Amino acid sequence: MTDLDMDSPLPVILGGAAAKDLATHLDIHTVGELVRHYPRRYIERGQLTDIAGLQRGEYATLVARVASKTIKQMRQRHGQMMLVTLRDDHGGRLDATFFNPHRLRGIIEVGTRALFAGQVGTFQGKPQLTHPQFEPLPDGDDIRPFLAIYPATAKLPSWKIGNCVRQVLDVLDDPTDPLPAALRKAEGLTELGRALRRIHVPETEADHHAARNRLVWDEAMGVQLALALRRQATVSRPAPACPPQPGGLLDGFDARLPFQLTAGQVEVGSEIAADLSAAHPMNRLVQGDVGAGKTVVALRAMLQVIDSGRQAALLAPTEVLASQHARSLRALLGPLGMGGQLGAADQATGVTLLTGSLGTRARRQALLDAQSGSAGIVVGTHALIQDHVGFADLGLVVVDEQHRFGVEQRDALRGRGELAPHMLVMTATPIPRTVAMTVYGDLAVSSLRELPAGRSPISTTVVPLAEKPAWVERVWARVREEVEGGHQVYVVCPRVGGDAGSDAELVEPDDPDSDDGPERRPPYAVLDVAPQLVEGALNGLRIGILHGKLPAEEKDTVMRAFERGELDVLVATTVIEVGVDVPNATGMVILDADRFGLSQLHQLRGRVGRGAAPGVCLLVTDVPPGTTARERLDAVAGTTDGFELARLDLELRREGDVLGAVQSGRRSGLRLLSLLRHEEIITKAQGYATELVAADPGLRRHPRLAELVDETVGDDERAAYLDKV
Ligand code: ADP
Ligand code: MG
Repeated sequence: MTDLDMDSPLPVILGGAAAKDLATHLDIHTVGELVRHYPRRYIERGQLTDIAGLQRGEYATLVARVASKTIKQMRQRHGQMMLVTLRDDHGGRLDATFFNPHRLRGIIEVGTRALFAGQVGTFQGKPQLTHPQFEPLPDGDDIRPFLAIYPATAKLPSWKIGNCVRQVLDVLDDPTDPLPAALRKAEGLTELGRALRRIHVPETEADHHAARNRLVWDEAMGVQLALALRRQATVSRPAPACPPQPGGLLDGFDARLPFQLTAGQVEVGSEIAADLSAAHPMNRLVQGDVGAGKTVVALRAMLQVIDSGRQAALLAPTEVLASQHARSLRALLGPLGMGGQLGAADQATGVTLLTGSLGTRARRQALLDAQSGSAGIVVGTHALIQDHVGFADLGLVVVDEQHRFGVEQRDALRGRGELAPHMLVMTATPIPRTVAMTVYGDLAVSSLRELPAGRSPISTTVVPLAEKPAWVERVWARVREEVEGGHQVYVVCPRVGGDAGSDAELVEPDDPDSDDGPERRPPYAVLDVAPQLVEGALNGLRIGILHGKLPAEEKDTVMRAFERGELDVLVATTVIEVGVDVPNATGMVILDADRFGLSQLHQLRGRVGRGAAPGVCLLVTDVPPGTTARERLDAVAGTTDGFELARLDLELRREGDVLGAVQSGRRSGLRLLSLLRHEEIITKAQGYATELVAADPGLRRHPRLAELVDETVGDDERAAYLDKV
């Protein structure tokens, strides 16, 4: 009928003015972009909007009836203004003001029903719309059973968008359905063309549910296909097969392990051993709570690779962690890790630390060790790979604590060599299933669910200064008790403090609601808190400071002093969030705890209770009870199960935040998909996507599916947009 398709520009159909409005105000340029601008909700024929449900400050579109109107002379300006009271069906009232009332005669009268759109403000304590836009709805004249309400702007109200959408739908042929008919049939999905019509112009409630469901499927399939393609691309590269070598280093290590591996460590260990034995790259995420024993798991993987004559690299996010890793790997390996040194075991390998803060000579030696292969294990920060350090034969890359590490970075780590190294990613931030399937969908996931036996419990308490200001003294008394008991304590602040540029480490709370106004004092800062404690509450204790702004060398010195028990208290930023392991540290005070994310708090508290003595964590906050921020803190105090917290974290975040955060600034095809509500669809979509890509590599026989991938995740970006959560 027409040559229109989803890529057609809008001016051809809508004419210049309307197309320009859509382009300017909503960044909508093509037929596809417009029909994918879905309604936010629907108003049923004859119904009025519930006024009580409107949020102050919200840009609202509502159907209401005019209950009364009066004309007033304006005081400040020349002219008249009309005051109208709008009503709903439940006794709700909303005032609205209009300018130029003479032009509204016969249009807005008592009894008129209309769509109104504007910002909900407040006047003398009552909600008010100031000169809203409107569109009368003559009674009995509703053509459609449901009125679609669109995400709109002050300049382009919902009904104008709706008119444009319907004009386009009138002349548009149904697009070819990208989803295979068999899939649609099995899942009972509406056809694409029908779904697109029905989501804009539903006849029944069931209509728009079915339409929405189908369109959610498109998004889930787009994402999962992108990830399946990525998995396939990775896995199809050749990798060094490193099957276990009986009698090798790994066996030697296992024989001298001072403890028994947990069941989880054994199980995950054998998954990894199998992956490493294959001639295509392992691509695995190991998630396990803080203290679950991921380091041993990683080390055993590295030893298997070394047994096949290759090298392993361990990457940590900071230099502090890298040097700590190097130390703890050497300690775990004992004589097995002293390659080239006196007293080494026969098969011993070497552990080399390679960081930016090494002196020239040490660095040259480290580079040489990596290049010659005398270092079986090279430990460094992520810069190790960016710096193109040469390895004799890199077989495995382990990325530790990587929750800020994305798909593209993983790709970069694999390099472009003939053989792609195996990759093992470890995170202590457990990831809810749906997030793992999307954000980390290119990885196979293993979980360590139990902690090694004999772990001390951590008790977590919220210290609510809003209600109990005096408790602050008890906090510092508690710190003294721990120190008097021979233990050590962390005091964590959200900020470094000092100079103006010091906010770099300021944490953004996960939940924008938790910011209760511009009046809040700035968050506590390490450089303010530490001297206050020295002179006041903790006078006489040995107090050190640690934050990201210190030179690497000084960080290392402070960390070592704390590790050796030469400091009682460490006042720090979140640099201690990941990995730092000081078993004698039993106490943690987190100031302005509400400023931290839920998972972050869990991470932080994991730094204590790592030894034999029980740990205590005090979450100090002055936000009032009953707020989301306090709810989050109560959740952290209420459970030590990181998996449970990860789920709660997802729930407490605002709708779409997880996927939404990565969409800002670019047009992604994700509009309806929710990681919380669509777990079942995402799971099924992953299955279908894997099958489809396995049967049709590169989706050459399914061009529409390939297009769907591009529509969903962007042509050039593919799955890369999923990186940054
Ligand atoms: P994380 O998962 O947080 O990285 P680590 O690997 O640092 O945990 O392990 C924490 C501590 O527990 C380390 O001191 C480690 O040696 C010890 N550990 C690991 N596995 C076991 C086990 N099976 N039994 C007892 N202790 C263990
Ligand atoms: Mg660790």
